[in-house]
Amino acid sequence: MKPTIDLKVNAKFIEQYKNNYPLISKDAVANLGASTEEGAIVNLVDNNRQFIAKGYYGEQNKGIGWVLSHDKWEKIDNEFFKNKILTAINKRESFYKDINTTAFRVFNGEGDGIGGLTIDYFDGYYLIQWYSAGIYSFQNQVLNALDELGDYKAIYEKKRFDTKGQYLEDDDFVKGERGQFPIVVSENGINYAVYLNDGAMVGIFLDQRDVRKAIRDKYANGKNVLNTFSYTGAFSVAAALGGATKTTSVDLAKRSKSKTIEQFSLNGINIEEQDIIVMDVFDYFKYAKRKELKFDLIVLDPPSFARSKKHTFSTAKDYPALIKDTLEITEKNGIIIASTNNASFGMKKFKGFIEKGFKEMNTKYTILEQFSLPADFQVDKNFLQGKYLKVLVIQVQG
Ligand code: SAH
Repeated sequence: MKPTIDLKVNAKFIEQYKNNYPLISKDAVANLGASTEEGAIVNLVDNNRQFIAKGYYGEQNKGIGWVLSHDKWEKIDNEFFKNKILTAINKRESFYKDINTTAFRVFNGEGDGIGGLTIDYFDGYYLIQWYSAGIYSFQNQVLNALDELGDYKAIYEKKRFDTKGQYLEDDDFVKGERGQFPIVVSENGINYAVYLNDGAMVGIFLDQRDVRKAIRDKYANGKNVLNTFSYTGAFSVAAALGGATKTTSVDLAKRSKSKTIEQFSLNGINIEEQDIIVMDVFDYFKYAKRKELKFDLIVLDPPSFARSKKHTFSTAKDYPALIKDTLEITEKNGIIIASTNNASFGMKKFKGFIEKGFKEMNTKYTILEQFSLPADFQVDKNFLQGKYLKVLVIQVQG
């Protein structure tokens, strides 16, 4: 049994927890002892020790734990995890049934009632991501739930908290039959190679599914496409399948070249007709300007923060400048697909960055379409920071 600890909530935070805010923050707690154990069950109480909510203690970059229940008597046991995971699986029934899409998120943290935990499905394999030592201490309960709820080939995991290097040699395998990687998943009929055993990033970001589909179905046909921060080239593959005349993928990570070739090959796309460039995107902008290269469709998907040898890029600061660089190499009436996964600002602010970039270039535009997280990435309506993805399809005018 884990110990239960009463955490006294500071007066001004009480309302927020009564109104189902799920993240327990350091500021909110008055009596946080240095000894609170990862994975301890905590009861949030008011000044009179009246129960408000219960949760678990787990230090993450955001917060020190998550609320799990507002029922004082609810036990955080096998049953609890099974119910939450079963409910989440049932909500994804249409995904499990869709033979054209075999990779999706089954459990999305606080959006499915347990912050700090995500579970993805990759064609029979489960990938669990643990965001704190606290939630990892419930590994048995989560594995029991998956065992009881259906068949799988194997379970892999990523410990996304400080493990002090002790898992460096690990291939992240937990149980079942080890996979032969890459496994090939299908997404709206597009093939993608996935490696669950090779570091934090597995080859594809599932949250961009709807954007890839839109690129293939609506925006790529007949277009000369530039994909910046391209990683394994997932957007380029979608564009090529959608009839792009050519794609150019730019990423500074050396591995991105072979990974992108692999994704193209899995989809029968002729690599000779595509450019895959290992280069700092900001150098590429200069190069393209010098060579007077122009593109009809440009995808911008920078990481929230990036530091390369020459540049530091922060989406919150530098997006307007990125738009300006992009406009210089965009064809007349071209399209820019601008994406960010930075949770520290919302759609309104993001639109402000876009506006600023265009304004400084004296260029008009219309927003054709916008995307946030797809349906399998359930969001807690009381925690909108969890809705981190923002994507705008922008039509340049002139
Ligand atoms: N758009 C991709 C995901 C991008 S992940 C997809 O849909 O799959 C972010 C990528 O940006 C990483 O692959 C990283 O290597 C790359 N990156 C970061 N800074 C960069 C820079 N200055 N120039 C080029 N690539 C960069």
